[in-house]
Formats: sequence, C-alpha cells, structure tokens
Amino acid sequence: MNDTGNDKYLLTPGPLTTSLATKRAMLRDWGSRDADFIAITRRIRDRLLAIAGVPDSHVAVPVQGSGTFGVEATLGTLIAPGERTLVLENGAYGKRIVTILERIGREVSVLRWREDQQIDPAALDTALREDPAISHVVAVHCETTTGIFNDMAAVSRVAKAHERRLIIDGMSAFGAIPIDGADVPFDALIASSNKCFEGVPGMAFALIERSWLAAAEGNSHSLALDLYEQWRGLEANGQWRFTPPTHVLAAFDQALTEHEAEGGVAARHARYSANRDILVRGMRELGFETLLADGVQAPIIVTFLMPNHPQFEFTRFYDDLSARGFVIYPGKLALADSFRIGCIGALGAAEMRAALAAVTATLAAMGIDDLATLPTDQTSTLNRMGTQ
Ligand SMILES: *Cc1c(COP(=O)(O)O)cnc(C)c1O
Repeated sequence: MNDTGNDKYLLTPGPLTTSLATKRAMLRDWGSRDADFIAITRRIRDRLLAIAGVPDSHVAVPVQGSGTFGVEATLGTLIAPGERTLVLENGAYGKRIVTILERIGREVSVLRWREDQQIDPAALDTALREDPAISHVVAVHCETTTGIFNDMAAVSRVAKAHERRLIIDGMSAFGAIPIDGADVPFDALIASSNKCFEGVPGMAFALIERSWLAAAEGNSHSLALDLYEQWRGLEANGQWRFTPPTHVLAAFDQALTEHEAEGGVAARHARYSANRDILVRGMRELGFETLLADGVQAPIIVTFLMPNHPQFEFTRFYDDLSARGFVIYPGKLALADSFRIGCIGALGAAEMRAALAAVTATLAAMGIDDLATLPTDQTSTLNRMGTQ
C-alpha cells in the first residue's frame, strides 16, 4: 500500500491522496524570484504542454487558486464581452460554467442533458448550424458530478467543422484520460494540480492556443484572473505577477516526475481503470448499484445510488469508513440520492481492496447482512425517488 504518512486515504476527486515524495517536496522554502523556483515554473509549464501534445501551438498559463479560479480566469480572458458561448451541460460543473459566464456578463446559450446521459454531438451540430452568433463552445471532459465521460473527439470534430473555438474543462480528466491536441483539436484546456496529476491543491492552469491568447488583451473583468496579463508577466521574466503558491508548485513538479515515471497518461489511465473495476465489482457484490451504465463510466469517480435498506444511514456509513481510514464523497446529484467513491490519487489495487474490506466491515457494524435482498433495479430506485 502507498505509505501516506498516516494520513487517511482520500477516495475523493481532489484534494486526493498524494505520494509521500510529493508531500516531502514541500519541506523547503523558495524565493518566488529565485532562479530555482523560476526553473520549476518553466518546467511545469513545458511538461503540461507536452502531455497535451501541443508544445508549439499553445502556451501554458498557471493561476493561483482551485480549479474554479482557472475556469473563471480562462473564460473571462478568452471570451470578449458581446461574444456568445454555448455550454454543453450534463452536470454541476457545466452548470457552474454557465453561472460564471452569466456572472461576468458574457452571452451564454446552453444545451442540457440528464446527469446520467452523455453530451450528444449531433445536438451540438444542430445548435451551431442554427446559431451563427455562437463563437465558442465549452464542454466538460469528465463530469465529476457523476463520473460520466463525454466524447471530446466528437465534440471537437463538430466544433471545428463549424470553425468555433473549443474550451475544455479537463479538470478531472487531464493526466489520466488521453487527450492530444493533434487528434482532438482544442483552443483551451483547463485543469489543476490536484486531480489526475496527484499534486496538492492551490494551482490551476490553462493550455491556450497562442494567437487566441495574444489577442485577448483587455477582455478580462478581473485584475488577478487575467490570464493574458499573467502570461505576459511570465514571458517577460519567468515570474508570477502575484505571490505564487511556491510549495504547491514544488509538489506539482514532483508529482509530474512521478506521472512520467509511471508511464504517462496511458499508465495512469490503466491504473485508475483497474481501481474502478475493483471498486465497482466489489460494491456490486455487496449489493450497491451504480448510477451510470458501465459504457459511460470514466475511471475517475463512481456514483452509487443510496441504498434504501432501513438500517443504512449515510452519515454513519461515512463516519465509520472515515474512522477506518477511508474518506468518501457525498453525492451532488439532482437526479437521485447518491454518494461517490473516487478511483484517483496515489492508490492502487491494494488500497481499493482495503477500501472494500472497510465497506464490508462498516455494513456489518450497521447490522446489514445483504443490501442485495432489496430491489436492485436502478429504474425502480429512480421511480421511488419520483425523478422520472
Ligand atoms: C474539480 C473540478 C473543477 C474545479 O473545482 P474546484 O473545487 O474549484 O477545484 C471544475 N470542473 C471539474 C469537472 C472538476 O472536477
């Protein structure tokens, strides 16, 4: 098992379990203007561009804060007032993008799907055909709300056929779900240090097509979240405009070294997929049901429907699992009462099996022998909740 240094295992979508070496990388102080630290920033930016297959066409711009700071910064910088953006929404993170665009006063159209349904590229095609005023499309690669993945290759094909700019929220996908600018053209990809790259939280970044960013001067509603200014500052002297999260960058640099040593995106995808498969199989054996069909389930986080066994009480389940060393994640669904368990972080088969053993012990402590003796059909569960 990963030696976490006595921390609990975080089966969550970030912050998540990091390696001991990543945590140890923070045991130093860096001057933000020091050559060593400037080199760390440079290295991280170059590595991110290489991983996304866009080393020449795009530039990497980091920004202080959580992932949402990166989303708001990117949208505000790249989309000029008066331009219309179409958001493809099938979960809470798509909805948050709509909220941001409305808050910063940008024109927004929305195509919506149920949380358990993938984005449909044919609907995007129709929408772009019907409304030439839409100049940008925004889509979420993996909707962390449920763990559903969206087909970015198909979305990109349609957006590019109509010559629209594509912004991808790849927050919970980039690093573990392959995306390469050569096969899946995108104009901006947003992610953060603390999801599939297994760094610590505190930094987001966007990989942005160079000429688009170069033309984005003056768009941003915000001083601190202006990625054009952030980029100009970095290009001028390698330094961040405002205090950088130095320790976060040092940890991220180490996490990226481990990502590469593991075998890059393909190897991480394989490990997370194995984690997901162990988790889903084991939970089903215990009688839990997944929200999503297997064919649309990303290897990132799995949503389980809340069992309606009279002795199952989520707060107790959560607390008991936490006391056994495993932190899970409450649900975020409009569709059905649920909870989530992540498959990402510095975790492998041994940790997933240990998590299943903890779930088994917790059910026993709650006096539940077998959840599966209750109705197991997902449709009937949704009907009981009155959501269909
Ligand atoms: C985590 C996440 C974000 C950003 O959330 P923060 O809590 O601000 O880090 C945005 N989009 C998706 C798809 C995410 O998974």
